[in-house]
Amino acid sequence: MKLSQRLTLSLVLTILFSILIISLISNAMINSRFDTYLIEEQESRFESIRNDINALLIEKNQDLTDDDIANYAAREGIYIEIRDSNNNMICHSMEYPGGQRKGMMGHMRRHHGMMNRHFSNTGNYVERTLPLMSNDQEIATLIIGYIDNSHLTESALIFKDTLDKSFVLSGTITIILGFLGSILLARGLSKPLLNIADTANGIRSGDLRSRAKIKTKTKEIVQLSDSINYLGEALERQEELRRRYASDIAHELRTPLTTLKSHVEAMIDKVWKPDEKNLNILLTEIHELNKLVDDLKDTFRTLEGQLNMNKTQFNISDEIDDIVSTFKPIFERNGYALEYLAKDSIEIIMDRDRLRQVIYNLLSNSIKYLGDDGKVSITLDKLDSGVKLSIADNGIGIAQEDLPFIFERFYRSDVSRNKETGGTGLGLSISKALIEAHQGSISVDSVLGRGTKFIIILPTSGSNYQ
Ligand code: ADP
Repeated sequence: MKLSQRLTLSLVLTILFSILIISLISNAMINSRFDTYLIEEQESRFESIRNDINALLIEKNQDLTDDDIANYAAREGIYIEIRDSNNNMICHSMEYPGGQRKGMMGHMRRHHGMMNRHFSNTGNYVERTLPLMSNDQEIATLIIGYIDNSHLTESALIFKDTLDKSFVLSGTITIILGFLGSILLARGLSKPLLNIADTANGIRSGDLRSRAKIKTKTKEIVQLSDSINYLGEALERQEELRRRYASDIAHELRTPLTTLKSHVEAMIDKVWKPDEKNLNILLTEIHELNKLVDDLKDTFRTLEGQLNMNKTQFNISDEIDDIVSTFKPIFERNGYALEYLAKDSIEIIMDRDRLRQVIYNLLSNSIKYLGDDGKVSITLDKLDSGVKLSIADNGIGIAQEDLPFIFERFYRSDVSRNKETGGTGLGLSISKALIEAHQGSISVDSVLGRGTKFIIILPTSGSNYQ
């Protein structure tokens, strides 16, 4: 069923039910109030009739004739009969052939138009007996005959009828309005939904640029449209990344492979001797390739969130000390200095190999970009709930415009590309992913020509301990 049909149906049904319930309840309440009111009215009318006749009876000294009350009875639209205390008839309104009261009422009905109170056609003839008094003594009995639903005067019936009609009328109008309203409402809802569905279908069939453009203020629909658009953007970004990766990987692989190929061809052509020196050049290229493949493997793992952490507790101060002693000879061989300033001895829980990988990465980077009197300082500070590890060099620094991108995959500044330092542009992105997998953060501070400082913050407690 379409949304519009569903909405219209439920709205119309709701209106119908509401009108029905309202009319039933108000009818019942008005009826009961109205009936009591009319019965009370009738009671007070009978009481005033009794008072009038009582007064007449006393005035005429109990000597009333039929004519005395005939007009009165006709005017009130009732039958009147007065009997003395011995139950003998004193007088009565109209001819009263014994037991033929129905006939009498028929007669009354014939004078319908003349009566100022109108009777309904239905109902039974009933009588009320009321005492007529003089000086606190019952001197006679008054019998009033009437049709038992006579309290339902015609105007009352008209009122009730009007009420019912007004319910039917207002019901019909509300249903028509509800119908029109629901059509408008359904259009307002289904139009943006269809637009979103079109967008989703577009994305599904490969048009990743497709975006939902809706003009609605309905919060949920706006959220849905935002989600679809976000999905589209994310897919487009991923697709773009995938394309860039594919071309970047191809490019990165091509350079060492071309070098290898030309070297091997030169050896086959006997232009190049396969001596130890030349074979070592080939080996360096193969190492580069190996590194690239390893980096790619790590990158894809971080991309897929498949970094398996093997967390253990160890002393990070000692660990860095160990790394420094491995790197120190390499630095010194190049005429550079590497110093380590550990103020505190700190225990941490994390993947020891991953930590090594990150520091290796940063140290290998800095060594590539150091100049004369190159120096790298490592500092380890204790924080409230973690450690701060800084690796600062006095190398070539990073240009301000490159800074925001250096943690992106395959990003290499022009300087480093020209420098022929080697490198894949993957190291920092992998380091960042590894640090973030430990709920830590890595940031960079650099001034071109002055040096670069990487700052790593790692928690020593909290979720990292799990
Ligand atoms: P690469 O394999 O090219 O070193 P990285 O992801 O490790 O890739 O680094 C990305 C880029 O950041 C480098 O190409 C270089 O331009 C810059 N960079 C990283 N570390 C330093 C540093 N210590 N000094 C200057 N530039 C750096």
